[in-house]
Amino acid sequence: MNSTSRFTSWLPVTAVAAVALAVAPFSVHADEGQWLPEQLQGLDFTALKERGLELTAEQIWDGEQGLLSAAVNLNGCSASFVSEDGLVVTNHHCGFGAINRASTVEQNYLRDGFVAGSFEQEIPSPGMSVSYVTGYDDVTAEIHEAAEAAGEDPAARYNAVQQKRRELEREANSEFSEARVVPYFEGRIWRRIHRVVLRDVRLVYAPPRMVGEYGGETDNWMWPRHTGDFSFFRAYVSPEGKPAGYSEENVPYQPPRHLEVSEEGADAGEFVMIMGYPGRTQRYLSSTAVAVRQEFFYPARLELYATMIAELQEAAAVSEENALRLASTIKSLSNVEKNARGMIFGLARNRVVEKKEREEAEFQAWVDADDARHAKYGDVLARLLELDEAEAARMGKDFVLDNLRRARTLSQARRMMNDEDADGSGLILEADPARDVLLRIADELPEDGRLEPYDAWVASGDGDLVKLVRALQPEYLAQRQFRDRQNGLRQEVGALWIEAQEAWRGQRFYPDANSTLRVSTATVKEYSPRDGVLYTPLTTVRGMLSKHTGEGEFDAPDEIFDAVAADPSALDIPVCFLADGDTTGGNSGSPVVDGQGRLVGLNFDRVFENVAGDFGWNADRSRNISVDIRYVLWLMREVWPAPHLLEEMGVATRRTAAAGQPVMRVRAGVAPGEEVPAGGK
Ligand code: ASP
Repeated sequence: MNSTSRFTSWLPVTAVAAVALAVAPFSVHADEGQWLPEQLQGLDFTALKERGLELTAEQIWDGEQGLLSAAVNLNGCSASFVSEDGLVVTNHHCGFGAINRASTVEQNYLRDGFVAGSFEQEIPSPGMSVSYVTGYDDVTAEIHEAAEAAGEDPAARYNAVQQKRRELEREANSEFSEARVVPYFEGRIWRRIHRVVLRDVRLVYAPPRMVGEYGGETDNWMWPRHTGDFSFFRAYVSPEGKPAGYSEENVPYQPPRHLEVSEEGADAGEFVMIMGYPGRTQRYLSSTAVAVRQEFFYPARLELYATMIAELQEAAAVSEENALRLASTIKSLSNVEKNARGMIFGLARNRVVEKKEREEAEFQAWVDADDARHAKYGDVLARLLELDEAEAARMGKDFVLDNLRRARTLSQARRMMNDEDADGSGLILEADPARDVLLRIADELPEDGRLEPYDAWVASGDGDLVKLVRALQPEYLAQRQFRDRQNGLRQEVGALWIEAQEAWRGQRFYPDANSTLRVSTATVKEYSPRDGVLYTPLTTVRGMLSKHTGEGEFDAPDEIFDAVAADPSALDIPVCFLADGDTTGGNSGSPVVDGQGRLVGLNFDRVFENVAGDFGWNADRSRNISVDIRYVLWLMREVWPAPHLLEEMGVATRRTAAAGQPVMRVRAGVAPGEEVPAGGK
């Protein structure tokens, strides 16, 4: 591929439609890729059609709207509009904080679930927002000019770019639209994204935690899975239809587009598409950058988080109030902790560092084999490695500095809770194990990377943590300067590295995830995590109940047993399904749609072996986990009924009434023989 055609895909977006038709389809692995809306036209639609996609690229996204207009960002998670009155569906774990905040010991919606019977009963959720994309501008030239104008100093260039970003955002903001300027491909291109942001968001429906989080941390990042990870919210606007903060006067928002909800779900072998806002992947990192994460960063994070979680769990066990107050924090720390475990496991198992080292050697040989290439990319790898080595050399120090701040917040929270705890039943934790982990890491820092103020503090024998944090201020300043400079250098080296990679691999790239709107294609598919083991792609209510122990994370609610007793065919309803989509954190809540664009599930997780996929795609390991829409609908019909919401979504209010469908077909993946505990709890 010559460099002219490479660049054509990044012409200003208005020109993309015309140009994209002229370029060859992307040649990556079948379902690798988190594609930008503007890249869709370059995908192989003939092949996608054969697999079951019935929509055209323009129907998915025409530059301003399409199916993707229904895919919303909800506080860093993904979600979708599912009615013309602004009803939004996302994961339970994405709504967890709001459900938690709405709960009290007396009215515990987190434990018992919540169904708003009318608009009036919907619960305001301050701090939550819902946004969707209405268009993009290419602002690469403006950003690059700002960097140029700032001169040679890398930190100055970086800061100039940050300033320009804010400026470009400010000038595009209006009462209807908010802009964000973001880099793709390490800053090789920049886009200004126009979004409608809705800030009056209310809780509408949540199943009990024992459904929404069934299997808890034991099952998190695992398959087989039986988690009903969904919840509903609604976006409101001012009576004039403008985005506005909460007000009693506000009215339900009428989105330009919402998804049709499927009654049929998707079965093994079916094509699906995942639309959402993947948070962060780092697929183009160097071997050095991955190695230090594998050897130091993730193990340190694992130890620190495990310690904090144990501490908080101890506090939560003291009273129901504490448990409620700490539920969200414990949950999100636990998610990150298990993710770290998955990273350590997956990076080692997939030999990511070795693979990268091999690729880097091959890349360099390719560069050196041609004079023109050598002139352009001769030192790009060396420069990248130099930046990564500089970061690796101070990673221990930075870990301590970054997390001491966090640990301080934790201690403050603890103190605050003690003060509030009039009856003395609250959090009384004499030791601070999380802090001790950090101090131990500081003790073990290498000779040439010590935190001197820390050593002086230890030598003084004082022991006052506040004094330590104060003494560390110059270190925080130096850290900031170091990072600004690195970022400035990366703006240039990173962009060139991506360009060189693209030239070398002879294929076009999707950019790393950066919390912006993306599309992944996939197939509902079985999974073999290791030799001799084959997982079927769908789980069922039967399997969920067979996991029931009546305790802890596997305590299925009585209502589920009652509904199954009333209609045993419900045992065959699919609960979760596996597909081979390219997803990451932030894809939580992503609508999973079938070939017609109908909602068949909500993405909420990946398999453990795929956690390290953030650092490199692996077709054999790539599996994302979704909750099946048929389970969601069953719960809303028969278990915790919400007929008004079903009507609003345009689906039947009773299972058997589904448009002539034999709803209870036995699906692939159902293990018919599984034992279900009789008669509930
Ligand atoms: N369960 C994940 C999360 O909460 C989603 C994913 O990473 O696949 O971040």
